[in-house]
Amino acid sequence: MFLHRHATAALPRYTSYPPANRFEDGAGGALYPWWLEQLTSSEPLSLYLHVPFCAQLCWYCGCHTSVANDSSRVDRFVGRLIQEILHVSSRISDPGEVCSIHFGGGTPTMMSPEAMGRVMAALRAAFPVRPDAEIAVEIDPRTLDDAHVEAMAAAGVTRASLGVQDVDPEVQCAINRIQPTELLADRIGALRAAGIRSINADLMYGLPGQTVAHVRRSSDTVTALGVDRVAVFGYAHVPWFKKNQGAIDAAQLPGAEERFEQAEAAEAQLVADGYTAIGIDHFARPQDSLAMAAAEGRLRRNFQGYTDDPAQTLIGFGPSSISALPGGYAQNAPHLKQWSEAVEAGKLSAQRGLGVTAEDKLRRSVIERVLCDGRVDLGPVAARHGRDPADLIDAFERLVPLVQDGLATVDGWQVAATMAGRRYWRSIAACFDPELAPSAGRHSVAV
Ligand code: SF4
Repeated sequence: MFLHRHATAALPRYTSYPPANRFEDGAGGALYPWWLEQLTSSEPLSLYLHVPFCAQLCWYCGCHTSVANDSSRVDRFVGRLIQEILHVSSRISDPGEVCSIHFGGGTPTMMSPEAMGRVMAALRAAFPVRPDAEIAVEIDPRTLDDAHVEAMAAAGVTRASLGVQDVDPEVQCAINRIQPTELLADRIGALRAAGIRSINADLMYGLPGQTVAHVRRSSDTVTALGVDRVAVFGYAHVPWFKKNQGAIDAAQLPGAEERFEQAEAAEAQLVADGYTAIGIDHFARPQDSLAMAAAEGRLRRNFQGYTDDPAQTLIGFGPSSISALPGGYAQNAPHLKQWSEAVEAGKLSAQRGLGVTAEDKLRRSVIERVLCDGRVDLGPVAARHGRDPADLIDAFERLVPLVQDGLATVDGWQVAATMAGRRYWRSIAACFDPELAPSAGRHSVAV
């Protein structure tokens, strides 16, 4: 059900709580070394590596990245990335096992095949990586050659995540990302032939010139390609923040109601094609581990979106990457130059961050359950934190408009989205965020 006032509200995506735009200078950065030193082997780890280069810029992109121009720049970056891995790991005397490694960016395959192998070897030497760890790489199919595929397979990569967005040539032209479907099919075939069998595809709605028909066709295409998971993200147009988005003709962007219909169409198509809807924007084959985690209440939310990774502690490498530790969040310097200078000086580059309080941890758990399950029983969640659900009573006043509009129900301490509220899980989650109002304008719209 499209309701303008809720669908167009600016809300965090809550891949962390508190959200990253509330991190403070100094705070988490200063504490990061101590937080690392406090880690013990009882704490399983996830690792994230941010590669801040692309072959060319897509106009919709909101990531920390730049055009590499020459390969020596990427090679210098790889040297520093390995230096950072060694430095961070040296601060953890008794590291836990690594359950998951995620290469994101940017375009990780801007690293040469040989460099990817060196980074993986450095990670395996520095951390105890479990034999069954998930190793995922975000891929731009346009720059994925056979040598990369072989190097990824040799490095033990288990999952490839391909940016698709929309398969229509005109939409692709409007976002500066020309990518024929034949190329996609060919690269997926090469990955699978090399033994990398788990394939994700990212789609988008709300792009310039995009219609419901485009979204349906793109959903059908990735289904026909046999991908295991699909993520469907709404385009957030913030050209004042991301200069490359200034190349997009705002007059071509679909309106709020059309965006809503596109999100609905993608979900309807993917569900009809046999995928299970997961959280607010993911879909997976029923036998996929993410779908099973969702069915068993084990789904979690982190900076990569939804995950079945059990590790609560995430260590980030590379510029702009965020680490989530039991004590709080720490974000590396966002710019390559600052990050490089810190790494070369033998320092941690984290400057911003936030210590998390017991109150933050309670609200983070509640928000995570809403965004993973579309419902939350505040009693057991509060009990796990040694708290009383009445400590969250402030949220109930904020829930009133959603209940009045038929998007949510409240029954005792149980809060749930209705069928009509399927697209408003972020709105329900936001009711548990008492700090939202002052920074609301700095987030993407709810749908
Ligand atoms: S969308 Fe991906 S490939 Fe395109 S510029 Fe952004 S990070 Fe690079």
